[in-house]
Order: sequence, then structure tokens, then C-alpha cells
Amino acid sequence: MSVQNFPAATIVGYPRIGRHRELKKAVEAFWKGTANRSELDAQVAEVQKVNLARLTELGLNADYAIPASFSHYDQVLDTLRLVNAVPSRFADALDERGILPLEGYFDLARGTQDQPALEMTKWFDTNYHYLVPEVGAQTSFELNPEELFAQLDIAKEQGVRVRPQIVGPITFLALAKAEDGTAPDFEPLSRLDDLLAVYEELLTQLTERGMQWVQFDEPALVADHQHIDAARLSELVSSTYGRLSAHSRRPALFVTSPYGDLAQNLEPLAQSGIEALHVDSVSADYSDRLQQLAEQNGLHLVVGAVSGRNIWRTDLRQTLKELEGLKGISIATSTSLQHVPHDLNLEESLREDLKSWLAFADQKVVEVLTLARAVLEGEDAVAAEIATASDALAQREKSEGVRVQAIRERVQEVTAQSGAFERPTTSERQQAQAFLNLPQIPTTTIGSFPQTSDIRKQRAAFRAGTITESEFDGFLREEIASVIALQEEIGLDVLVHGEAERNDMVQYFAENFEGFDTTVHGWVQSYGSRCTRPSILWGDVKRSGEGLEGSAFTVPWISYADSLTEKPVKGMLTGPVTILAWSFVRDDQPRVETAHQVALALADEIADLEKAGIKIIQVDEPALRELLPLRAAEQPEYLKWSVGSFRLATSQVADSTQIHTHLCYSEFNEVFEAIDGLNADVTSIEAARSRLELLEDLPATFDRGIGPGVWDIHSPRVPSVEKIRSLLEQAVDSVAPDHLWSNPDCGLKTRGYEETRASLVNLVEATRAVREQV
Ligand code: GLN
Ligand code: ZN
Repeated sequence: MSVQNFPAATIVGYPRIGRHRELKKAVEAFWKGTANRSELDAQVAEVQKVNLARLTELGLNADYAIPASFSHYDQVLDTLRLVNAVPSRFADALDERGILPLEGYFDLARGTQDQPALEMTKWFDTNYHYLVPEVGAQTSFELNPEELFAQLDIAKEQGVRVRPQIVGPITFLALAKAEDGTAPDFEPLSRLDDLLAVYEELLTQLTERGMQWVQFDEPALVADHQHIDAARLSELVSSTYGRLSAHSRRPALFVTSPYGDLAQNLEPLAQSGIEALHVDSVSADYSDRLQQLAEQNGLHLVVGAVSGRNIWRTDLRQTLKELEGLKGISIATSTSLQHVPHDLNLEESLREDLKSWLAFADQKVVEVLTLARAVLEGEDAVAAEIATASDALAQREKSEGVRVQAIRERVQEVTAQSGAFERPTTSERQQAQAFLNLPQIPTTTIGSFPQTSDIRKQRAAFRAGTITESEFDGFLREEIASVIALQEEIGLDVLVHGEAERNDMVQYFAENFEGFDTTVHGWVQSYGSRCTRPSILWGDVKRSGEGLEGSAFTVPWISYADSLTEKPVKGMLTGPVTILAWSFVRDDQPRVETAHQVALALADEIADLEKAGIKIIQVDEPALRELLPLRAAEQPEYLKWSVGSFRLATSQVADSTQIHTHLCYSEFNEVFEAIDGLNADVTSIEAARSRLELLEDLPATFDRGIGPGVWDIHSPRVPSVEKIRSLLEQAVDSVAPDHLWSNPDCGLKTRGYEETRASLVNLVEATRAVREQV
């Protein structure tokens, strides 16, 4: 096969949301019905054209250097649509040709009147969520390339030859779950042969369109999977890519492996007959294996040397040193750039020095081009760029606030103390906490109450300066008073202040800590049209304000709430692991050091809450599972430092202070270790959707408080008294009534007041009924 050379510089993928979140606005207007289909089509075409123009202007203008990575919602859903693998419960979403149209695609993503959406879960160890395909023994696969071809056509009109980018067949099935009603031992990967027939047809059709390259993303090959044997996975790699490369009419195959190390899958993939292989040399240390790959005949090596998932400027000198001696390679990003914001130049108010240490998607494209030039022409050709990068990094290292000796000494001192991570036994603590006088199966909520449009308007007005700080404060106090009154009226046992003052559970802390900065346009897609704006954790962390301990910032709100009621009010904090997971974290020291600093800042806030008389303090860790390494061998080390940092934050309290935590997921076997490790007095977890099955695995010795969510707050439905009651009755079978709590699955900020009130009234009534039975 004679193919056009692979471009010297490329990216694995590019943000899809648009420089000013145009995609969000376009699809949300379409969903609301305020824009029609042709308006939507025009807007998404425009997003793609602007991106193509930008990338070519930056210099990514060789044929096939740009992947067709646009998505209306999610790349896994795109691939589902491309192979028309529509779950049978969504048969209604198909059009008269039996093909999934865009409207049906959104139905799968968002659910319909009678079908809940596809499940959503984290994409590898990132904060991006994909939709989980449901594959059964009868799922039919059929090529539906309309959307892919539409993207190629838009690029062609612009005069750009892009390369199709598709989730690879192994990853697609490895991420799928078995459709409901399939045999218990059925696994989606058993359908690989059938799926490959469609990929072959796709290759044929791409060839007919004159495509020279196609990209298949296979991140599943860098992870361990609970249900897939590693040796079998390697065999599937050989057979799959052996088969696709034996297909007679096809473009050259480019396979990417972002997020980690291919390990035992490297050899089979490299030998399978594909033309180009991408490895992630940022997440993994490939060292000498790179040389071997670069020398392999017939295989073109594409080194992902620029991080696609952090926002730090690349150390060009150091990277080139690692690439030394590698001839004929191409340079790429380590992952898709979908995990970073579009363009640093949009940040007009970020400090200039901080800005010089950073690179967002567009700056990373330039870094890739620079490294590629150095590989082709030698380092001298880019001497000026190397010098600029090295200067910025040298300046970063010695810049004020990056390393604060006093903070470091304090962390060292505290973590070295015996007992820094320990509390007395759970039963001693329970005795000390008995004064709280809580009823059996206490009722509570997870923290936030509905973030009404009124709250958002007032916050915007305060930001814009149209209301004063004291006006905004007054508004928030009224809000707190009404949330407390509502909870008293409903009859909840442990109250919350409602979190109205917080824009976001991490950014709020970033704004009150030193060592963080926030951006204005730094949006990153979380899922579909949802975007988050991670804060930048660049320096040593302590609370803002005088001295090493800084000053309290949640205390005024919590104390005010506490003053309005006789019932206990929970203090509410975000945990260290979640603060790290949902920020862009400095890359110049091990994460454990950063986590310990954040933990101590939180411990300071907890101490102040205690001083203010707050008896119950909740420290949320919804992201604990998210950072779990993809390889099983690396997981114990992670759990050690993540759980350790939570304990560092929460262990210095009085025995009588009740520490709560909240975890946002339901794979209980995976969380159990963490629940025990965190050593909290009470843990609330997501459970309503899994029908509390998770509690069945609870060991008989379990002696902590546990609040399995009995109201699925992800759905607007109000759970009935009977429904909640039956969940609690089921829970009482596995959990002693003295340890059981009754609460929703998660915070209520996305819910409306009407459903919130109705649901909580039912929750209290159901709990009282069960209380009487036990
Ligand atoms: N306390 C937070 C809230 O109630 C927890 C949010 C979360 O778990 N993601 O909103
Ligand atoms: Zn949650």
C-alpha cells in the first residue's frame, strides 16, 4: 500500500465546545425549541470552521494533521451512531430508515419521557464523562456514516484535509455495558467480530472518498479492566488490527493510546500491521521502547509528548532531550486537547507571569509544531522557542508564592506528628457524639439547596458591581434563613445552610485559598453541553488572610445558619482530593505534597468551625474515585495518599465532633475500602439508582454511619413515600438502625424548589414510618 506520509505534527483531538461555548448555546437552544435544526446545523458548522481556520493559522496545515474531532455531545455516542448500535429500549429513536438521526442521538444522551438516558461515566482518569453504550446479543451493527461524512465535507469546503477520528472497536466494546435482559455471562466484547464487519465497511467507504488516513482511538488498551482478562485483551489487539489491516480497500491506520502505558498491548499493536502508532509519553515512561518503535519497519511512530490534559507550558528542552536520537518520528499531544480550554490569549485578566507558565489548547498546538520542527531540522532551528520556554519555567520556579518555606515547614511538622492521621476508635467517638441526641435513622441532605435563577442573577449583579457586597451578603442571609425555615418545617434532623454563596464546590475554595487563580474563559467540557472552569493550583496553599493559618471563610455563613435553629447545622467543605481532581494542579511536585497543603488549609477551617460551636462537619469527596489509576498495580499507592490527605484534614477534631463525608458513586465494592479508610463517622453515598443492592455486601462488623441515597436527585421525579420506605426497609436488613441515615443521593443545586420540598416531605414521612418499625 502506498500512502501519503503521516504529518510531522498533529494533535489527538481538539476542544469541541467552541471558543465562547458556542456549541453549548447552539444545542441548548435546539433542545429548548428556540432554534430549529437548520439553525443548529449552521451553528455547529460554524464552530467547526472557526476551529479549522484557527488550527491552520497556527500552522497545523499539512494534509491529515487535523483530526475530525467535532462532536455534538460525546465521542462514544458518535461512534455508537456511526455503527448504529442503538439499544433496543431506544427503538423509537430510529428514523424510518432504521437509522439514528441527530434528534434520536440526543434522546439517547438526555433520555425521553419513558426512557432514562444512557448511563454516564468518567472517561478514563479524567473529569470528562462519556455515555455508556448498551450492547446485547441481538444488537445490530450497521454503518451510518452521515455525520462523519458531513464533518469531512465541512473541512473539504474549507480546503482542509482532515482525518476521520473514531473510537476504536475494542475501546467501544470495552466501555459498553451488557444490555438489560442479556444472559448473566454475556459480555459486549463477544460481539467484536460483528462490529469489525462495520469498521471494514467504513474503511471501504473512506477509501472511496479518497481518504488516506483514519484515526482509531484505543485508550482502553492502557487500562486494566475488571471483567477483561489482560492476556485476552492483547490477543484481541492482534486479531482486531490484524484483520483491519488485512482489509483490501482501506486508508492507512493510525491508532492512538492516550492516558497511559500500552504495556502488554504495545507489542501486539505495533506488530499488527497498522501504519502509525501514537503513544502517550507524558502519562507513561516509554524510555527505550521508543527507540525500538521508531526503528520498526513499516510502522510510523507518533510520540504524544505535549500533555493534552494539563495547562502547563511544556519544558521544550527537557522534552527534546527525551526524544534525542529518535529519527523520522512525528510529534503529537499525549491525549485529545478536549481536556483543556481553547486559548490562553482569551484570558485578559490573568497575571502576566502566571500566563507565561501556561499553555492552553492553541498554545499546545504551537508547542507540538515547535517540537516537530526540532525533530526535522535540529534543535538550533527552534533555539529561540526553547529559550523562551526555559526562561518562563525558570522564572516560575523562583516566583513568589510557588514555594513558601513556612507553609512547607508547617506541613512537614504536622504530618510527622504521631496521630496526625488518626482519631480514637469509632465506638469511642460514637459515645462522645451521643450528646447530639439524634433520632434513629436521622434525616439530612447533602448540602446544596436549589440554585435558583434569582441566586445566579444576584451573583452576576454582584460580580458586575451593580449591587454592593453588603447587599449581596444580605441577600445570601435571607436565602439561608429561608432554607433553614424550610428544613425545620419539613422536619429534617440535621440541617444545612444550602451553599447559596458558592458558585462551584471547588472554585469557591480556590477563591479563598492562596496558591490558586481562576480564569474567565477557561471552560472545559464535562459532558454534553455542560462545561466546568477548573481553577489553576499553581503555588503553595493556605487559607487567604493573615499568617500561616489565614482566616475562616465558611464560618460566617454556617454560624449564621446555626444561630437560626435549635437543630444541628452541618458545616460544609470540599475535600482535598476533590479540590485537586477538579482543578489544574501544579506539575512540579508529587500530588501528595499538594494534597497535604490543601488538607491543612481545610483542617484550619474545620478548627474554626469547631470553635464557632459547629458539631457536625461534612467534607465532600465526590471525586475520590475519579483519580484512581487505570492500572490496578498503581491503585494502592493512590488510595494511600488520597485517603491520607482526607484524614489529615479531618483527624484533628474533638471526639465529639461528627465528621461526615459524601461520595458520589455507587460501585460499592470499589468504595468500601475508601469508606473505611476515610475514617469518617458518617458517609453518604449514591444508591437510589442501584436499588441499594450495594448494602448487601456490607461486612457485619461495619460500625460507621451510612446514608445510602434514597432519592435519585438526577431525575426530576418526586420519589413516593412508599418507594423511599421500601428502600429504607431494604437498608435496615443490612445496616443496623443505629448506623443508618436517610438522605438524598447528592446535592440539590440542580433541582427546583417544588420537587425538593415534595421529595423531602416524603423522605421524612417514610423515615418516620420505618423508625417506628425497628
Ligand atoms: N455538598 C455538595 C452539594 O450538596 C456535594 C456535591 C457533590 O457531591 N458533587 O452540592
Ligand atoms: Zn454527590
